[in-house]
Amino acid sequence: MTNEMDNRLAQGRAVIQGTHDAIWRDWLSSTPGVSRATLRLIYECASSGYRPEQNELLLNLPEANVEDAADEGAHDQTPPLLAGIGWPAWKRELVHELLHEYQHKVVAGNASVVGKALEQKYRHCFDGPGHDAHFFTAIAEKASYFGMSPETLIMNL
Ligand SMILES: [Zn+2]
Repeated sequence: MTNEMDNRLAQGRAVIQGTHDAIWRDWLSSTPGVSRATLRLIYECASSGYRPEQNELLLNLPEANVEDAADEGAHDQTPPLLAGIGWPAWKRELVHELLHEYQHKVVAGNASVVGKALEQKYRHCFDGPGHDAHFFTAIAEKASYFGMSPETLIMNL
């Protein structure tokens, strides 16, 4: 691996970490008693996921996807909060798992009416456990953070 590739990878990792820090601050830091999940970037035969028992947020990403984040970092040091369709893979995964962290720590059993309605309509869009009315409540509450409707955010996850 050349130094240039190493640099892009390191830069991409820094952008992903910085984006995680910024969104976590905005969404979760004001909730009493919660501590930030540790973000771990991996590339192995495992899925991305938020693991409540370990308080870990795993992002399973090929290095090329991590390097994509370097491009956003080069243009702008603030978190790249893009409106509309077309987030890169790293951003989709990161926001998806941060929504799970928010679901566990803030929604925590209090699904909203809007969240329940979204679940009815969009449950089929996601595989695996955890995509319940609480997950969709997190989506309903956080879509406007990205300047999106909940439906558009769902299409970006
Ligand atoms: Zn999920």
